[in-house]
Amino acid sequence: MDQTAQEVSARFIKLLQVSAIALVSACTIGLAGGWQCTALAVKKEDPIATETRALMEANKKEEAQAKLAAALRKYPDDDNLRLLHAEVLYSLGRFHFSADETKVVLEHQPENAEAVLLSGKALQSMRRRAQAIAAYKKFQALKPDDPRSGQYAALITVLESESAQWDKRKTAPGDDYLAAVAGSNLLSWKIDKPISVYVKDGTGVEGYRADFEESLRQAFDEWSDATDGKLKFVFIQDPSTAQMTVTWTNDLHAPALTPEAGLAKTSFGTNGIENAEILLLTLDPLKDGPLGKNRMFNTCLHEIGHALGLQGHSPHEDDIMSSQLGVQQGLSPRDVRTINALYGDKSAQTRQLPDKDEYGRPLPASVICERHVQEGYIAASNNQFEKAITEFEAALKIDPKNEKARESIAISLNNMAILNDSHSDKAIELFRSALFWDPAYDTARRNLNSYLQSKGIEPTSFDVRVKLAEQCLAKHDTRGAVVEYTEALIYKADEATKKKRDSLQTELRK
Ligand SMILES: [Zn+2]
Repeated sequence: MDQTAQEVSARFIKLLQVSAIALVSACTIGLAGGWQCTALAVKKEDPIATETRALMEANKKEEAQAKLAAALRKYPDDDNLRLLHAEVLYSLGRFHFSADETKVVLEHQPENAEAVLLSGKALQSMRRRAQAIAAYKKFQALKPDDPRSGQYAALITVLESESAQWDKRKTAPGDDYLAAVAGSNLLSWKIDKPISVYVKDGTGVEGYRADFEESLRQAFDEWSDATDGKLKFVFIQDPSTAQMTVTWTNDLHAPALTPEAGLAKTSFGTNGIENAEILLLTLDPLKDGPLGKNRMFNTCLHEIGHALGLQGHSPHEDDIMSSQLGVQQGLSPRDVRTINALYGDKSAQTRQLPDKDEYGRPLPASVICERHVQEGYIAASNNQFEKAITEFEAALKIDPKNEKARESIAISLNNMAILNDSHSDKAIELFRSALFWDPAYDTARRNLNSYLQSKGIEPTSFDVRVKLAEQCLAKHDTRGAVVEYTEALIYKADEATKKKRDSLQTELRK
């Protein structure tokens, strides 16, 4: 049954897909700084530096960056070139990469005032206010007579007040939407060490721009910051050991993505979430054109939120986990409270789902239906199949045409047969039930046939299947009989059998 077990898990990974829908964003982050030619402490200018400055003056920033990156591969210890590279990256709006470069320089030369100042600017753009303030203060201490020290005094005051406001906002009491996105079973990452992330290079993917990676890194930062560093990420170069993988794609027509801008798939194990794959669309799914940086940032936040265990959507449209991205300005205070509820106080598990919206109005049927489906997914991912089926059936009661719910019942029955009842005749009944709910579900069909075969019953014989149908009828198992007649008809077309099957189906509908 090894192969079957694999099919089970593959189906479930598919089942647990969550995605963002139609995104239009208006978010202001990462204001790319204009190029300022900072006087570097270079005594005799390196020809590569001279060339780079000429390229910068001609506004050929990308070219300058590529030239410096290549030179640094050759001369990795050249701090002057590295600092220049950090400046170029900063001017390109690639703040995280700029900060990485100044960090290296400062390890060698902790008193390099220009590197200190540049790191402050990058950190400020990354909204790491406390660290930016510390850098500006260090610059002031190193260069008290520099006119820039006076200019930065005013900025420090502004940042300090912003920082205090953000802290207040982050810890403001209020509601969260954990119950709506995580159901009654909370699944989260084990966070005793940083989550390793591999970001696949997007170079060559249509629509991809280097600034997308900046938005992505910033989004990871925001979630980390929201939890006061409880969630940490480490970016690694080896995809085989990564717990989270991010892939850029331009495939507008991938069925899973259309018309969405991103996708997050998570898989679970005994430690909770153990793996996540994030797909990010490099093209605008609606306009078939280039994507704005801010929208990319919101999409990144949203998909990372899913990958972190916020599986469903917030009912409030100003939250980043709303199903519609448009009005959000990064993470809302409610987003912050929700992620902290998931990674903090686990007593939240007993929380009840509200049945009214924030204005006290009853929730629309479609929202309740979607909630049942979500609850079902979560129960199924914990192998609580009875509960899952109850939830999916509740969804179908509201919306009998809900294909997700119907398909999920079939998957739950199939997995229940394998995981709970693998050695009993009950498994055969469960596979039949699965096929009753979803006659197109080939995994259940193959499983049923292989179970029959293991009991010495030939599954591909018309006569045998008709006989099995009659046995079902004798036990008043009408659904089982419908499935067996349907299976019989795969092996031979027979009008009388078809009629019998159809009349049983009509009977069931009454
Ligand atoms: Zn989503």
